[in-house]
Amino acid sequence: QPVVILCIGMAGSGKTTLLQRLNSHLHSKGSPPYILNLDPAVTHMPYSANIDIRDTVDYKEVMKQYNLGPNGGILTALNLFTTKFDQVLGYVEKRAETVDYILVDTPGQIEIFTWSASGAIITDAIASTLPTVVAYIIDTPRTTSPATFMSNMLYACSIMYKTRLPFLLVFNKIDVEPHDFALEWMTDFEAYQAALAGAGGGEDGESGYMNSLMGSMCLVLEEFYNNLKAVGVSAMTGQGMREFFAAVEESRKEWETDYKPELDRLA
Ligand code: GDP
Ligand code: MG
Repeated sequence: QPVVILCIGMAGSGKTTLLQRLNSHLHSKGSPPYILNLDPAVTHMPYSANIDIRDTVDYKEVMKQYNLGPNGGILTALNLFTTKFDQVLGYVEKRAETVDYILVDTPGQIEIFTWSASGAIITDAIASTLPTVVAYIIDTPRTTSPATFMSNMLYACSIMYKTRLPFLLVFNKIDVEPHDFALEWMTDFEAYQAALAGAGGGEDGESGYMNSLMGSMCLVLEEFYNNLKAVGVSAMTGQGMREFFAAVEESRKEWETDYKPELDRLA
C-alpha cells in the first residue's frame, strides 16, 4: 500500500519545489510517484501532475463568473473540485496498487486548504482511504526570529490537532539556513528563552509582555514537540532526502497503529 504525503505550508515555504524534488528523487529510485495538484493558481509547475485541479476548474473564470477576488476564486475553485473528489479518489485508488508514494500539493495560501470545509473533506477522504502523513513545510531562513518561530509552530500545532494525522515538520531551505537552531529550540526550552531574551534587547524589540506570553506558549508546545518528527531538507539541492523518507516510513506505521484503528472503530 502506498503512503500519501500531503504537503502543507505557508505561501513560499517551498511546497511545489519540494514536490518536484521528491518526484525526481523517486524517479531516480525507480519508483515514480502519483501526483495530485490541488493549487488552482499555480502558474509554474515544475513537475507534471497525474491529477491537476486546473484541468477541471479555471479559477480566473470562477473569479469573473462569481465576481470574486483571487482568494475567493481559489477557494471556490477548490470547492467545485471537492464536489468531484469521490471520482478523483477512485482514480487514486486504482493507481494505488502500482505506486509507493502519492504526493499532494496544496494551494499557496495555507488557510485556503487548512481552514476550509473543502480542505477538511479532501484531507479526511484521503486519510481514511490510504496511509497519510501531513508534511508541514517551513521556510527555515524566515523563521529564525523566536517570535516567528513560535507562531509557525502554533500554526503547525493547530493543523496537527485538527487533522489528527501523523505529522512531519519539514524544515526546508537548509541550503540557506541550517535548521539546528530550530531543533535546539524544540528540545531545549532554556535555549529558546535565551533566544527570546536576546531578541528583546535587539532590533526585534519584543516587549516584556510578549516574552512572558511566549514563555507560557513554550510549555504548551512542549507536548506538541514530543509528538512530532522533524527533518531538515533542501528542495533546491536535495539534501535530507534519506531522513525525509525515513520519517515518512515511520509516519506510515503511525497511521496504521494510531489512525487506522480509530477509523475501524467508527466504521
Ligand atoms: P510554495 O508556495 O510553498 O509552493 O513555494 P515554492 O515551491 O513556489 O517556492 C517558493 C520560493 O522558494 C521559490 O522561489 C523557490 O525557488 C524557493 N525555494 C524552495 N525551496 C527552496 C530550497 O530548498 N532552497 C532555496 N534556497 N530556495 C527554495
Ligand atoms: Mg506552490
